Amino acid sequence: MNATATPLIDGFGRLHDNLRISVTDRCNIRCSYCMPEKDVHFIDRTEILSFEEIERFARIAVGLGVNKIRVTGGEPLVRKDLPVLLQKLRGIEGIRDIALTTNGVLLAEQAQALYDAGLRRLNVHLDTLDRERFRQITRRDELDRVLAGLDAAQRCGFGPIKINAVAVKGLVEPDVVPLARFGRERGFEIRYIEFMPLDAQGIWDRGRVLLADDILKLLADGIGPLEAVPDPDPRAPALEYRFADGRGAVGFIASVSRPFCLNCNRIRITSDGMLRYCLFALEETDVKSLLRGGASNEEIAAVVRRVVSAKWLGHEINSAKFVAPPRPMYAIGG
Ligand code: SAM
Ligand code: SF4
Repeated sequence: MNATATPLIDGFGRLHDNLRISVTDRCNIRCSYCMPEKDVHFIDRTEILSFEEIERFARIAVGLGVNKIRVTGGEPLVRKDLPVLLQKLRGIEGIRDIALTTNGVLLAEQAQALYDAGLRRLNVHLDTLDRERFRQITRRDELDRVLAGLDAAQRCGFGPIKINAVAVKGLVEPDVVPLARFGRERGFEIRYIEFMPLDAQGIWDRGRVLLADDILKLLADGIGPLEAVPDPDPRAPALEYRFADGRGAVGFIASVSRPFCLNCNRIRITSDGMLRYCLFALEETDVKSLLRGGASNEEIAAVVRRVVSAKWLGHEINSAKFVAPPRPMYAIGG
């Protein structure tokens, strides 16, 4: 942070030091809880921020105290030359941590270049180890490539590698225990993410969320007892558990059953340069026009401050007042 800059603190006293950058809304698979099956409307390429624009915005955010960045999408590995961007971001003084969330389909071919660009932390999205079920969930037959991607990432030396599994009731129950076993054997932490109302087809319903407690029960019955891990970072959203036999850990992003808004430290920028203070925000602030329209870094920094200071207390998923944002997950950047 600049010596003169004050940190990004919102009206509820929450410090914001975590930036999620979406680099594309395009994707090479079609998860049913995220994208529509066909007729996907993608953002025009001319509207997508260039690497230079992303780097400039990241530098401004770091000047305001951001020190953690996660790159996401859509599928970030479909963005050409992503390692070049990672290298640029890594070069920003003040960044402590860079991570990438990917579906893993292109990971085998890109793992080494990503590692060479300095990336170490990966979240790979995988809901099932069963080929037919993978096809059913993602509408694509790409399981083998994702598994090859995980192998390649481990060979390169990435760590930690976490696996994101979306918890949809009536869909993934058969996969919960096999995935956790796979994680225990291979040294991956599985993160079960409660299904959120951000799917493109509007199929979300509270009754379709496989809750963290349901998953804990499936794991305890199928594998053995778990114990909660005391949280070293209360601002991290995941609830962590380890198996009592000492073999492996799992985490839960329980946005529905145990919202973590009170500890939120995140801001997001979409691939078309819209700044968001929350995944579920109904409003966005157009930073791209500022980046392209001759605004100074100070002017853009002032906008970021304004957005953070106007941030709401939290989403209202559990209330009748909840309104889903107009953009689905793939277009916001998960
Ligand atoms: N394509 C990459 C991937 O799938 O990891 C990065 C973008 S994706 C939008 C980021 C994460 O969002 C995924 O790992 C997936 O677990 C999660 N996700 C997608 N749709 C979701 C939904 N409706 N509810 C909860 N999590 C979701
Ligand atoms: Fe693509 Fe990720 Fe959405 Fe699946 S969750 S459709 S991989 S962006």
